[in-house]
Amino acid sequence: MPSAGARPEEPDAAVERLRAAARSRAAHPRKVRIRQLKGLKRMLEENEQRLLDALAKDLHKSPTEARLTEIGTVRAEIDHAVLHLTDWMDPRPAKVPLALQPASAHVRARPKGMVLVIGAWNYPVQLLLGPLVPALAAGNTVVVSPSEKAPATARALQELLPQYLDPALISVVSGGRDCVQALLAHPWDHILYTGGERVGRIVYEAAAKTLSPVTLELGGKSPTVVTPSRNATAMARRIAFGKFTNAGQTCVAPDYVLAVGEVAHRQLLEHLPTAIREFYGEDPSASADYGRLVSAEHTRRLVDMLEEDVRAGARVVVGGRADVAGRYLEPTVVDGVRPEGALMREELFGPVLPILRVDTFQEALDFIADRPHPLAAYLFTDSLRYHRAFEDQVQAGAVSTDVTLIHAGMVTLPFGGVGPSGIGAYHGQAGFDTFSHLRPALTKSDQVDTLKAVYPPHGWLKRKTIPRML
Ligand code: NAD
Repeated sequence: MPSAGARPEEPDAAVERLRAAARSRAAHPRKVRIRQLKGLKRMLEENEQRLLDALAKDLHKSPTEARLTEIGTVRAEIDHAVLHLTDWMDPRPAKVPLALQPASAHVRARPKGMVLVIGAWNYPVQLLLGPLVPALAAGNTVVVSPSEKAPATARALQELLPQYLDPALISVVSGGRDCVQALLAHPWDHILYTGGERVGRIVYEAAAKTLSPVTLELGGKSPTVVTPSRNATAMARRIAFGKFTNAGQTCVAPDYVLAVGEVAHRQLLEHLPTAIREFYGEDPSASADYGRLVSAEHTRRLVDMLEEDVRAGARVVVGGRADVAGRYLEPTVVDGVRPEGALMREELFGPVLPILRVDTFQEALDFIADRPHPLAAYLFTDSLRYHRAFEDQVQAGAVSTDVTLIHAGMVTLPFGGVGPSGIGAYHGQAGFDTFSHLRPALTKSDQVDTLKAVYPPHGWLKRKTIPRML
């Protein structure tokens, strides 16, 4: 069997090879799964600097941020999977109704077979390896396709993965759009795609043609509702942290803020600029901790939207300076953005935070409900009543109160969208279950035929008793 080498494998060859490997069940045994997971962990440990360099080159990610949000999150997934794999693989007993006893039933997580993981550029390590962990833990063969927009990281993973994982069970196919489309022409036992909605539709359409199951990890405009706070300093820091990490290029970053009433509005205008200065200094371009945008086009797009809203009357509270060619845009807060403004048309995915003022909490809930379901929704409040109402009423992939972002790094919570922000979920056991077929199995001995009571002919006695049995 040819093995995946340092050069990208052709999509068709990778599929043929890994389909055969999936049929051979070589990835099924527990010890093989554990070996892959440990190999992946060793890869991260022994090549940390190489990955940090690649992330700095692609996105100017600081080593600390990269350790926290990229390498650390994958390591946490690996440790959690290694610790719980036996439990997850164990048959899950199911009750048998009295009328069907004696019998025994269970659900067993079985490997789906051959799966495809399509990564995005904004967290190019986490979003490729994060899904790879549960895909391997679930006993599958896996083709991973890194995003071409983070080329240094894609190159590093292309070289490293086959050195640390069994190359017979995985393939790294990198080559961008054409390669992804060639892969999508094949049937898969599962596809997990992370990225924008436009390509999400392409993936979903292709998967429909081959009836391949999908998990779509998409994005959207994640709102943050703010009511008056007793600790406005912490509130502002937590919003700024969620927004400006990775220069705003985080799928669950607060996209915009709804300030409920005069006091919350004033607190935001006062404390957000302070939080930004605390984090990145007077000149964020000189901060080692502040990232760059993925491309000059992406920077241009944000600057154009910002300028359009400023022309329409919005006011830059802090930030606003840009170097388009240098892929730099200051952490920027804009007040007085209108709901129909340019910055409210689509997911920003960059370091611009519009603030909109609403008069009541209910208005904020209605504002969110009137728009497509976001990937995350955040609330900062001192009111238990608002907290409860938010959790009850807001339809979003996840909700967090008094904090942003960190739910996405927790292995104990499923991560995924709802409606237009995504289909399905992963992380921790949710990931293992996503890449497994949860197969029911029933055993009912036929030594004594206890089903006689339901066989035809259905005379008057059976006609009376059968409906009651069920
Ligand atoms: P991207 O450009 O890296 O594209 C994602 C993947 O799609 C890449 O692997 C790319 O090769 C492939 N691709 C691109 N064009 C294609 C085409 N025409 N046909 C087939 N495949 C193609 O990423 P992006 O779309 O710019 O990512 C940003 C979006 O992703 C944002 O909306 C963000 O919110 C979302 N996102 C979601 C999550 C999540 O976990 N839910 C995480 C990160 C990003």
